[in-house]
Parts: sequence; C-alpha cells; structure tokens
Amino acid sequence: MFEILKKSFKTGIVTDQYPPAPAGQKISVAPTAQKKAELFRKSLTIREVDTGSCNACEMEMNALANPVYDIERLGIHIAASPRHADALVVTGPVTVNMEGPLKDVYKTTPNPKLVIALGDCAINCGIFKGSYAVTGPVDQHIPVDVRIPGCPPRPAEIIEALTELRKGETTFTRWFRKFSGEP
Ligand code: SF4
Repeated sequence: MFEILKKSFKTGIVTDQYPPAPAGQKISVAPTAQKKAELFRKSLTIREVDTGSCNACEMEMNALANPVYDIERLGIHIAASPRHADALVVTGPVTVNMEGPLKDVYKTTPNPKLVIALGDCAINCGIFKGSYAVTGPVDQHIPVDVRIPGCPPRPAEIIEALTELRKGETTFTRWFRKFSGEP
C-alpha cells in the first residue's frame, strides 16, 4: 500500500486544463436543448452510435477519455448501453444498414434523451452525400438537439459543445426570469 501511495505522490496530477477550442466554430446548441439538458447539468452519460462513419470521429471521441481531456472530471460519462444513457452521440451519415439499428437505439434510450449529431457526416452526410449506401443525415431519421460540425470535430470542440449544452438555467436565472416578467 505504501508503495502505491508513494507512486501516487510522486506522479502528482497528470491532468491539466485541456487545450482551448479554436475560435469561430459554429456549434449549434438550441435553447430548447439546453432546457432539455437541465436534468443532466451535474452528470451526463453519453452513448456513442456509429451509423457509418470513417472512424475518425470515433478517434476524437475516444480521446475525450484520455488523461489530457479526461471528461469524467467534468461529470460526463460514457455508457456501454443506450439503456444507461442520457444522450446519444451519433457519428457518420446514416447508411442503409444502420437506419434500423439507429431507430432501435433511439427507442431503447430512456426519455428525456438528447441526440447530438457529431461531425459533418452526421449533420449533412459530409463527403458521403449522394452515395447509394446512405439514406440521409441523422435528423432525417430521429430528432437532433445539438450539432457539432467538423471533419472530424476536435475533442476541445466536443467538450465545448457539451459544456454549452449543460449550461441551462440556474435557479437564480429562473427566479430572475419569473420576477422580471420574461416569458
Ligand atoms: S465527419 Fe469526417 S471524420 Fe467524421 S465520419 Fe465524416 S468523414 Fe469521417
């Protein structure tokens, strides 16, 4: 045990502030999505669904769990099953073979659920647009709450979108809105 403690003290904290996202990106987080995410402001569990991507978007998603980005420290967890997820992160255009499984996964995920389209392919089919094997972007099959563009989006951009999504309303802003007569 002392050996482990000694090693822990010697190693110290390996995580640091992750690299900032580049300015000028266009992440679309609808206010309705923020409202929907209110329940998940402290803890959000995501499940990744690949509907036909080239795997580069997955590589960036995988990087979220490494010691540099370490999304667990932000209260974001990756689930092994859609039954345990609050949000689905869908990558790739929806291929003919994956249209059915995508709809099944959507039905399996408990309500209220969020859908995040990650990468240009999920948003508008990207470079696969027009392919005979593609049935369309994600929002053609299931409702999408958040769009994170890029080919592929960088981990810092993904974290920024997730953080933006979870800002939502605080008790104070809700109180302020109520007493200032805002709708
Ligand atoms: S958006 Fe780019 S990186 Fe992501 S699946 Fe499509 S081609 Fe690959």
